[in-house]
Amino acid sequence: METLEFQAEARQLLQLMVHSIYSNKDIFLRELISNASDALDKLRLATLQDGLEADTSDLHIEIEADSEARTLTVRDNGIGMTHDEVVELIGTIAKSGTAELLTKLKEAKESPELIGQFGVGFYSTFMVADRVELVTRKAGTEGHGTRWESAGEGTYSIDDAPDAPIGTSVTVHLRPKDEEDALYDYADEWKIKEIVKRYSDFISFPIKMGDETLNSMKALWARPRSEVSDDEYHQFYRHISHDWTDPLEIINMKAEGTFEYEALLFLPARAPHDLFQRDAQRGLQLYVKRVFIMDDSKELIPDYLRFVKGVVDAADLSLNISREILQQDRHIQMIRRRLVKKVLSTIKDLLNNNPEKYATFWREFGKALKEGLLNDSDNQKAILDVSTFASTAGAEPTTLAAYIERMKEGQEDIYYLTGDSRTQVENSPHMEAFQAQGYEVLILTDPVDEIWVEAVPDYDGKKLQSIARGNVDLPADKDEPQPEGDFAPLLTFLKENLEEQVKDVRLSHRLTTSAACLVSDSDDITPALEKMYRAMGQEGPRVKRILELNPNHPLVGGLRAAHEQNAADGGLPETAELLYGTALLAEGGDLEDPARFAKLLADRLARTV
Ligand code: ADP
Repeated sequence: METLEFQAEARQLLQLMVHSIYSNKDIFLRELISNASDALDKLRLATLQDGLEADTSDLHIEIEADSEARTLTVRDNGIGMTHDEVVELIGTIAKSGTAELLTKLKEAKESPELIGQFGVGFYSTFMVADRVELVTRKAGTEGHGTRWESAGEGTYSIDDAPDAPIGTSVTVHLRPKDEEDALYDYADEWKIKEIVKRYSDFISFPIKMGDETLNSMKALWARPRSEVSDDEYHQFYRHISHDWTDPLEIINMKAEGTFEYEALLFLPARAPHDLFQRDAQRGLQLYVKRVFIMDDSKELIPDYLRFVKGVVDAADLSLNISREILQQDRHIQMIRRRLVKKVLSTIKDLLNNNPEKYATFWREFGKALKEGLLNDSDNQKAILDVSTFASTAGAEPTTLAAYIERMKEGQEDIYYLTGDSRTQVENSPHMEAFQAQGYEVLILTDPVDEIWVEAVPDYDGKKLQSIARGNVDLPADKDEPQPEGDFAPLLTFLKENLEEQVKDVRLSHRLTTSAACLVSDSDDITPALEKMYRAMGQEGPRVKRILELNPNHPLVGGLRAAHEQNAADGGLPETAELLYGTALLAEGGDLEDPARFAKLLADRLARTV
């Protein structure tokens, strides 16, 4: 027999369980049954797809309670685990991000929402047990089984179990009941029945206690919506998603005819912590005629809808279909197209009929959804229809349609500005004339915004126009006061002096209070995008921008006069540099040589005090 230590994160999680931070302890049984059901699915799949020889005629889960010994056993005749798998799967927490969550959890103390972010699974048994034994043997392997045992503290013991049958049994040594602490008598048959009925009725294998089968085994997606309670849907959602928060929306689909399928999809209420991690699990569960075929089937749903959870049950696929075949199967592609349409129309319904739910959805998943603007050109319009954006028009985000309705007379484009934060965008010099003249500008601050705006030319015939790019020609410009004097010599002078930094210097129509700003040429990429490309390792020539001057600003006027008087004034090139640097700083950009800029500025200030 060996005694081993739990991995540090596992130990922390166990601590949380032992000290019962989660008030509903009943769910430990749901977790054990859920694991058992997965193990049965895996065994059946291994026989179907990998040619494993095993008897799958009587797959089931058994519950045995001994009120005298105060034990509860959950047994399955599923795939089982090898010795090494027990160490790896039960002794450690492999899921990425768990450590981070645990830290947050500790800071937040008793926050059930946070706990809900990771399936605590097997460890939840320690909410009700002072000792847990697990005996298992892997199907299709020679030799003996494995016995694992722990009291949930720092260590566990592991040993051979020579006569273990194939499958897994978990025996929970129950703590004394303490109803005040919601610790019920889990050796009581009625309590067990109640929990199974409530949480695990849909499990597709029989859950037996003695001669009795406790669950109906009805596939939830095959039952009419009117017959299924929200609670049943929610339990099923937990089983497949490991998210303990109730879903935001439930979507039923059914197609009959040449290619039959049923789907039950969920929009979660909260983004998983790994929504933007490349290696995160994603995809839907695939069933064929009620038989579980695979988890995480990415072929069924595009990546930008990776937050959608659920099940697709297709009638006409082969039971031993592989992932490779799935990718090319045109029925699967057809299902995928329909699911996308349905999900997008569901979001549209939320937008139109349930603003509160929509707001939750958008806050959690808007960033992911917008990736579809790049990858799914067929649905670009439909995605834009259900997208909302922050805007200078108010605190609430707006749809593009609502923006268009508010457009001013003579305005032809949808104006936007990208940046790191709302404040930065709002205070950007580019915004000045637009704000002064009452033009609404969309404020785009998600990193993905920088990219999709390049891919989407227009919405409803209205061009999406960055106000930091190209020439602006606001309809109201005509009334602007004409600057005095001839700026052409100054512009030429500046252009020569700032040759390294900018491609052109011109007078601006977008400034009212600032002296200068930088804009991108119409066909050039923006600095943010350039930065992103560099971060991804794509080097290219630096893209120079255009320096625009506000001819009505005293500094610019003064500079013009100074240049006119003495074009050879030694201070002028430095002023040019300061002007450029200030414009860069004002939009939140990075100076190439901040120390030099600081020195120039300090010298200049010294001369004025
Ligand atoms: P989760 O089920 O969320 O993955 P658990 O802590 O409940 O997390 O279980 C960890 C892993 O241990 C499972 O993913 C599975 O591989 C394995 N496991 C747990 N219970 C069983 C079982 N009854 N039969 C086979 N493997 C199991």
